[in-house]
Amino acid sequence: MLAFNQLSYWERALYIHDNTFVIVGAGLVGMSTALSLKQRFPKEKILILERGYLPTGASTKNAGFACFGSPTELHDDLQKMPENTVWETVALRLKGLQLLKERIGLEQMAWRPCGSWDLIGQAQSCLDTAFIEWLNAGFEQNFALKNVYSIDPQVSNKFGFNGFQTSYFNRLEGSLETHLLIDTLHKQCVAADIHFLFDTTLEAFESSTQEVLLQTQRGELKCQHLFLCTNGFSQDYFPTELKPARAQVCITKPLKHRINGTFHLDAGYYYFRDIGSRILFGGGRNLDFEAETTTSFELNQMIQDKLLEKLQNEICPGQNVAIEAQWSGIMCVGEQKKPLIRSLNKNVHAGVRMGGMGIAIGSAVGLELSNLV
Ligand SMILES: Cc1cc2nc3c(=O)[nH]c(=O)nc-3n(C[C@H](O)[C@H](O)[C@H](O)COP(=O)(O)OP(=O)(O)OC[C@H]3O[C@@H](n4cnc5c(N)ncnc54)[C@H](O)[C@@H]3O)c2cc1C
Repeated sequence: MLAFNQLSYWERALYIHDNTFVIVGAGLVGMSTALSLKQRFPKEKILILERGYLPTGASTKNAGFACFGSPTELHDDLQKMPENTVWETVALRLKGLQLLKERIGLEQMAWRPCGSWDLIGQAQSCLDTAFIEWLNAGFEQNFALKNVYSIDPQVSNKFGFNGFQTSYFNRLEGSLETHLLIDTLHKQCVAADIHFLFDTTLEAFESSTQEVLLQTQRGELKCQHLFLCTNGFSQDYFPTELKPARAQVCITKPLKHRINGTFHLDAGYYYFRDIGSRILFGGGRNLDFEAETTTSFELNQMIQDKLLEKLQNEICPGQNVAIEAQWSGIMCVGEQKKPLIRSLNKNVHAGVRMGGMGIAIGSAVGLELSNLV
């Protein structure tokens, strides 16, 4: 592979020289940041560095849920975080989702306003009806959104599930096709004259008052501002505030059993949706937190077996479920669910810790990052 100092005059002019902004990470947040920067500074040169030959984190591997909070998850969050932080985080997700819809277009990402169901198992405690009413009042007061959540005890009958006593329906969540979203973002970046160098890893950087010197495995380059959009791969920069969280997913072969929507269970630790006649099912990180705190893309067989078992017994009872593909991706979590958007110094900025909800929140993070300069 050619080092930067072996490139032609033309190649250096195009990719290496005079970059005002360099963004590390070609995921949802990196590309959203680049587009927001381009809107504010149309004449400045922008380069995105990506270590993989494809984006290699979470943005091309996720489940395509456009979610901003299920009742059981928000209930959990309220036990761990101050109420105003929970509402601020929801506000950022709603803002990001709106931005995403405007930027990408509903058709381009196959947006489906199907709603979502938060499923409650037989052994699980139900939430108080008063809590659902309190959440609805909060959404109305903070965001002028009425009756976001309702109780749907008929969910198992409706979709032929086994073992759920009730559910909480969120009428505003939906699904999209992950590959269409990422492809549209990429095309928009290229159309906006934003350049990409794939297979190029940022290894170190050093900033002075005027510029940042970046070290990659292909050589050095400089920029005025560096943006770290490296989500689950950011522990070196923020050792105590975040950690990687691997997520396991599988997708079935076509099934006779039809569902229509997005579903969460066990306070968001499992999730599934239909994709045509297939079901995508993911989660189970809570079965082995220690092993899943990793940036390695291996499959965890114990968790994959559990996904299949749940699919077979709870989601498609009585059917023979065959798995077509399995994969994993790397998310980023921390004690705080709010994303970490921060300048490390005058020239280096980070937008990381999407907490597994980057689809909704990613565009808002990109916008806030672009406003740091
Ligand atoms: C299986 C799975 C299911 C998910 N489902 C959903 C869902 O349904 N809804 C939802 O909202 N969210 C979901 N998420 C989370 C969502 O995908 C993420 O929050 C979002 O994609 C994060 O985007 P990002 O750009 O911050 O990070 P990433 O997409 O991880 O991008 C970071 C990029 O940085 C690159 N990089 C890292 N270090 C370097 C370096 N040193 N040099 C160069 N490049 C580097 C990586 O290769 C990577 O491409 C899911 C995640 C996974 C893994």
